[in-house]
Amino acid sequence: MKIVETAAEAHGGIAAAKRRRVLVPTMGALHRGHLELIRLARAAAGPEGEVAVSIFVNPLQFEPGADFERYPRPESADEELCRGAGVDLLFRPPVSEIYFADRSVTVEEHALSQTLCGKSRPGHFRGVCTVVTKLFHLLEPDAAVFGEKDFQQLAIIRRMVRDLDFRVEIIGAPTVREEDGLACSSRNQYLTPEEREQAPVLRAALLEAAERARNGERSAEALVRLVRERISAAPRARIDYVELVNASSLEAVVTLAPPSLLAVAVFFGKTRLIDNIQLP
Ligand code: AMP
Repeated sequence: MKIVETAAEAHGGIAAAKRRRVLVPTMGALHRGHLELIRLARAAAGPEGEVAVSIFVNPLQFEPGADFERYPRPESADEELCRGAGVDLLFRPPVSEIYFADRSVTVEEHALSQTLCGKSRPGHFRGVCTVVTKLFHLLEPDAAVFGEKDFQQLAIIRRMVRDLDFRVEIIGAPTVREEDGLACSSRNQYLTPEEREQAPVLRAALLEAAERARNGERSAEALVRLVRERISAAPRARIDYVELVNASSLEAVVTLAPPSLLAVAVFFGKTRLIDNIQLP
């Protein structure tokens, strides 16, 4: 009789049987940021492994009145991009395939979700954790890749995987940007030409604050004020939040101490953009 006392060993038999699979969960409208995640997934899967991409605009993570209906869904372009990027499996379920009408179980993280985007978007991370749990169960990946552009999401997924014993390695990917510094995002296409012109102010403000921190500024208030002033100078920008937080707990800090994260969310018209920078 084999006696197993560790969770890793308990799961070992299942994992050994199949090809290594690395998943990239997305909501589609694929851009260079997603393609970089797919590239990292291939590197993590190895030539014999399998890269899976999911495209699912998850109704549970949109607040009422948010952009769920108008979220871009360029199905054939996405399919072509996946094919061109060497994706092995594209999982593209309709909503009815993922959610029962009378569903009554969700997954929720209770600490890291309280700050930043969790404050402005109630229920958002519950939607994210629930759908990622379902994707992990349905596709049984060995690893999954998430972008640092959504730093809070990445932190919450790591916590969920740790706390609920998912046997999935979480791989973080650096933010991919346009030439002018704007983080690539499916939502950038909502921007009017005027808003698009002003949107790089997010990156510029964060870089300036990082420089100020490198030169010795330790006051969170001073760094946040600097970023707010720079962003407010863009006439179309309306700040949702600018916060300096501890990069592990995501709680606001008063004095800069590594690891710190400066994170922003800014509306341009109805379009909400986010960005962040890790401070020295
Ligand atoms: P989304 O389709 O916006 O839900 O994003 C799917 C995944 O791509 C998430 O893990 C995002 O963090 C990641 N992602 C989105 N934009 C970027 C970007 N500009 N650079 C790197 N990763 C990104």
